[in-house]
Amino acid sequence: MSYDQNNIFAKILRNEIPCKRINEDAHYLAFHDIHPKAPIHVLVIPKGHYINAQDFHRNASPEEITGFYKGLAAVAENLNIQEGFRLISNCGLNGGQEVPHYHMHILGGRQLGPMLAA
Ligand code: AMP
Repeated sequence: MSYDQNNIFAKILRNEIPCKRINEDAHYLAFHDIHPKAPIHVLVIPKGHYINAQDFHRNASPEEITGFYKGLAAVAENLNIQEGFRLISNCGLNGGQEVPHYHMHILGGRQLGPMLAA
């Protein structure tokens, strides 16, 4: 499977569609999820073109991986979620991934309950 240049996050990265931007640097972009599932629901995506977690972790350079995860930590630090939060990355069909550009969800702002609905 090859990277789809027309996926919605690729369009956000090219500034073709807007997003509620939080922060970015050379390696990542963080923005608010358009359909929040919790009081805080933020997406963090790498700037490079990777389909999912597996693609990113296998194929991104050490600099891209470090830059992305340091960015993720900085974003989480600034969201006022000291009481805890959840990171989710859906991968592929069974993972329920809708947008085929690697992303991490940061969810918080309330007690999130069980990890998975039954
Ligand atoms: P996933 O199912 O892990 O691929 O999650 C994709 C997420 O992207 C969902 O939570 C959507 O609500 C979110 N989303 C889709 N389009 C946009 C958009 N234009 N701006 C912000 N978030 C979006």
